[in-house]
Amino acid sequence: KLNTDNIAQLAWEKMDGLLPCIVQDAMSGKVLMQGFMNQEAMLHTLNSKQVTFFSRSKQRLWTKGEVSNNTLDLVELSSDCDNDSIIALATPNGPTCHTGTESCWNDDAAQPDISFIADLERLIASRKGADPDSSYTASLYASGIKRIAQKVGEEGVETALAATVKDLEELKNESADLLYHLLVLLQASDLNLSDVIGVLKQRHKK
Ligand code: AMP
Ligand code: ZN
Ligand code: ZN
Ligand code: ZN
Repeated sequence: KLNTDNIAQLAWEKMDGLLPCIVQDAMSGKVLMQGFMNQEAMLHTLNSKQVTFFSRSKQRLWTKGEVSNNTLDLVELSSDCDNDSIIALATPNGPTCHTGTESCWNDDAAQPDISFIADLERLIASRKGADPDSSYTASLYASGIKRIAQKVGEEGVETALAATVKDLEELKNESADLLYHLLVLLQASDLNLSDVIGVLKQRHKK
């Protein structure tokens, strides 16, 4: 993890003062964009908590979103094994690519499958308070926590049954139902998948 006191140790000389920096969505791990940072850009990023590059075309510091307002809120910066490449974990405000897409890599195949769960959770969260007639998720929220909990129970049983009778197609389908309804239940309880992952990480340490 980089801070203003340790960035002098990066391989600036070897890289002629510019390190590549890959920006990933802190929640989903989705790769959003890549730019270059000089030491000044990195200091500015750490101090302002807004991802800032050195633009080679503009030949000046460039805070992503300075015109579009599609800024990247810094979560943390880390360097690789030999200190010549950077990953910035960030929370994007709006689409990161100047073409209007979330990521500069539009090809779905370029993103880890697991990041889809984060996208789905975000969509599910956005349905809170929506007109129950407008979406199934909104109608689930409207039906109340007991009904959602019951659905999770049912889908859990269906998943277990499918596994027991070795119906793999059914196991995939029921697992999808279970995951989806679990995400809704967590949201309805004002919890996130991150909270659950936090528990798993704690256990993993033991
Ligand atoms: P912005 O930093 O979002 O205000 O955009 C300012 C300018 O930077 C745009 O007009 C583009 O030329 C360039 N730009 C913005 N986002 C990206 C990106 N993700 N990758 C490359 N260039 C970008
Ligand atoms: Zn390296
Ligand atoms: Zn782009
Ligand atoms: Zn089911």
